[in-house]
Amino acid sequence: KERTKEEILALAEEMNVRYVRLQFTDLLGIIKNVEIPVDQLAKALDNKIMFDGSSIEGFVRIEESDMYLVPDRSTWLVFPWDSSQGKVARLICDIYLPGGQAFEGDPRIVLKRVMERAHQAGFSAFNVGPEPEFFLFKLDAEGRPTQEVNDEGGYFDWAPLDLGENCRREIVLTLEAMGFEIEASHHEVAPGQHEIDFKYADALEAADNIATFRLVVKTIARQYGLHATFMPKPVYGINGSGMHCHQSLFRNQQNAFYDETDELGLSEIAKHYLAGLMQHAQAFTAICNPTVNSYKRLVPGYEAPSYVAWSAKNRSPLVRVPAARGSSTRIELRSPDPSCNPYLALAVMLASGLDGIEKKLPLALPVNRNIYIMTEEEKIAAGIQSLPGSLGEAIEVLAKDSVLREALGDHVFHHFIEAKRIEWSMYRMQVTEWEREQYLLNY
Ligand code: ADP
Ligand code: MG
Ligand code: MG
Ligand code: MG
Ligand code: MG
Repeated sequence: KERTKEEILALAEEMNVRYVRLQFTDLLGIIKNVEIPVDQLAKALDNKIMFDGSSIEGFVRIEESDMYLVPDRSTWLVFPWDSSQGKVARLICDIYLPGGQAFEGDPRIVLKRVMERAHQAGFSAFNVGPEPEFFLFKLDAEGRPTQEVNDEGGYFDWAPLDLGENCRREIVLTLEAMGFEIEASHHEVAPGQHEIDFKYADALEAADNIATFRLVVKTIARQYGLHATFMPKPVYGINGSGMHCHQSLFRNQQNAFYDETDELGLSEIAKHYLAGLMQHAQAFTAICNPTVNSYKRLVPGYEAPSYVAWSAKNRSPLVRVPAARGSSTRIELRSPDPSCNPYLALAVMLASGLDGIEKKLPLALPVNRNIYIMTEEEKIAAGIQSLPGSLGEAIEVLAKDSVLREALGDHVFHHFIEAKRIEWSMYRMQVTEWEREQYLLNY
């Protein structure tokens, strides 16, 4: 909801707000904030709060480090939990340079820029409904996360009301108090794993919501003596955590993906969008699955995709077209995981889809068979390619994709690839417990 400076100042006073967090995310999607006492709020709303960008991952070099936080006034929100020093509010900010230009390394600005392209192409909204999953682990006596989950529940289990269920309920209540419309919340397949689905929104709001969601989940879990993690595959041998993204383009309040005259109920726009997603899927994997650990989720056998294919019939491929039509017509991308930077992830999905629309890319045939039981020859014959198998592979595919480079902008593109190459090479040199178990005695 758009608000004026005066309205926000009045609300802060009325609600006894003592501190305001000016929130943004770094290149890797970690939420950062500068906390100001409420008497600085007027200054913040005049876009006069500066910070040192050189201390933020992926931002800038020392010599050009002064940056300004420009609050998006529609994101004003008072955290519903109590704090001994009075209420805390937050504003999500864009980052600007001293000369007054938007900073091209700010992930939120990257997403805005790609959304602007969608507007130019005649679309009024890029709607995204995410399904983030997470694990709850117990804390030890010192308050450090353990590897012990706190329940033995399974999918949609009606477990006896344990800590995890109560904690998830509290998370839902808190999110609702913050204006989220929660559509579903349930125990997931793995012990200790949960999912909370909230209503779709236009991409910028959806990305802000994902960032806020992570913060709320972690905060409430702490209050229950639990650690919430969005790490994609925290435990070997059980399902990892994904963040499926349902998406659609709207034009004048109408769903542009729907066409009742089509056999599948999908418009040409939807088909080209889907073709674009498939075309760039291998390249955007590095953005949507940005950690070494992400690739331990994208393996056969745990409900996560590992091949580039789509289907309107089965639930396992990279892209599923859910059965709903009319205004709910949408495409579900199933590869992203909740360790991604939500702004960059939505930006690359949209850019890929728009590329498909602009180039009128043809849509490959759906694959309605179980890909995991097809032979290599059958997969080759059907033109089915694999998603990258590791962060190292994924980075090099991204590095060659000029459409995504354009979408991310040179600054983010180069800094992201550089940071991830370092991460990958550090990991590559590790010697793991698994290796010692396999090789120490045998060789
Ligand atoms: P699944 O069947 O994969 O578990 P869910 O029903 O849990 O999916 O989640 C569906 C998501 O899709 C919700 O976030 C919902 O708001 C969203 N959604 C519904 N309609 C649209 C649409 N037109 N565009 C984008 N997302 C949508
Ligand atoms: Mg769901
Ligand atoms: Mg689901
Ligand atoms: Mg799920
Ligand atoms: Mg899903």
